[in-house]
Parts: sequence; C-alpha cells; structure tokens
Amino acid sequence: MVGWPIGKPKERPTAPLRGYKLAHPVVSADGTGAAFAGVTLGRTKVYGAVADAECAQGGHHQSPSRWCDCGFYCLNTLDDARALACDPDYRNTVLLDIAASGRFRRYERGLRYARQRVSRVRVGRCGCGHPATVFVETGAGSIGWRRLMAVCADCAGSRPGLPLAAFSRLLGGVTVVHDEITRLYDPVRAFDSAVPPPADVPDPAAADQELVPLLAAEIALLQSRLDEVQRQLDRLTKG
Ligand SMILES: [Zn+2]
Ligand SMILES: [Zn+2]
Repeated sequence: MVGWPIGKPKERPTAPLRGYKLAHPVVSADGTGAAFAGVTLGRTKVYGAVADAECAQGGHHQSPSRWCDCGFYCLNTLDDARALACDPDYRNTVLLDIAASGRFRRYERGLRYARQRVSRVRVGRCGCGHPATVFVETGAGSIGWRRLMAVCADCAGSRPGLPLAAFSRLLGGVTVVHDEITRLYDPVRAFDSAVPPPADVPDPAAADQELVPLLAAEIALLQSRLDEVQRQLDRLTKG
C-alpha cells in the first residue's frame, strides 16, 4: 500500500466497507481450527474469520494509527487483489473477501482498518495451472499453525489433503469457493495448443467476430440518436 492516506478524517460509514486481500491459509497444530496468516507486514500474525487488529510492532496504541503502519490492509477491487496475486511474494495465497469496520484509514487503492470479518475465501489455481481442489501442507508455518496451499488432485498425489469444504468447516462455516477465473485470469490457457477446445464449446474468437456487425449497428444507431439530440439542442439554444 503506497501513498499517504487520502479521504476525509470525519468519514463515518454506516455499513462495513468491503475489500479484498490475500493471505496464507493455516490449520492449527491439532487440526481443529483454521485461520489465515499475513503475507508481508503481518507475516507472524495469525487471524481467524473475525479479528481485531493489533500493533504488529508491539505498540500499545489503537490500530490503525497515523504514526504506525500496523492494522489490517485490503484493496478496494477484486481486480487489484488478483493482480497482486501474480507477485511471487503472494504465491500460494488465497483471496479473501472482507468486511472492514472500526477505525480505518483510506488509501488510493484500499484501506487500513481495525476490525475484519472474512466473508468468503476464493481459491485460485494450483501451481501447475489446473483449478486447485484441496489444501496440503507447505512445510512452513508458525508456532501452533501449519501453513497450507491449495493444489489440484494430481499435484496433491498421495499427500493427505484437506478438501475446501473441510477448510470451510474449520473456519466456522465461511464460504470457500473456486475463484471465478475467467479467460482474462487464465492467461496461459488461452494459448494452450496441446488441448483443442471441445467441439461443443464455441470458439471465443469466432463469437467475437459475430459481435462485430451487431456492435457496428449499435454504434450507428447511437450516433444518429446523438445527431438528433444535437439538432434539438442547436434549435433550442440558437433559435
Ligand atoms: Zn502499531
Ligand atoms: Zn496441480
């Protein structure tokens, strides 16, 4: 998160603010609970589905504070969170939809805030490119918590895996879903020549071609409508 906070200090939203963030999924050492670990600043902090921010520097002030960088962070848009997930530092993270409340500071592209409720966990692709379906241990973690990553069944192999639904139960019922990965977010698949598209799936390029005359007609219609509005405006202002 860069830049000095913008926004009005007196802003008092009536509903929680929505946002998106990336986090490492973790499971407790005894396997009875699930939570998340931060990626950069909050790397050592583990938080549950509902959590209050504490100062990561050990300060006793309210978090967030103008004079410290602690607090929860999120981005305003899903696109920005998905873009951040491409950074190698965020490899093997999951995407969280959150509702932020309490004290907050607004930034150009996101928020820093005091209280957080995770409303949905979005699981992306396995490192091999296929949709991830199960969580396995990464070997990393912190005291009391084992870090997980989501992989496909092939890559999980014989390793014990925690299905997405089981992770959801350990989180107390928070929805865990596959991220809606469109072609835009599946950049390699579009060029995958090894697997021809199934016959019953229309070729997206052909579908785009069919749209061209429709869109051209649409534009012509809008143009003539605009001309008409302009004529009326001219008549009213110059007449
Ligand atoms: Zn602090
Ligand atoms: Zn895989």
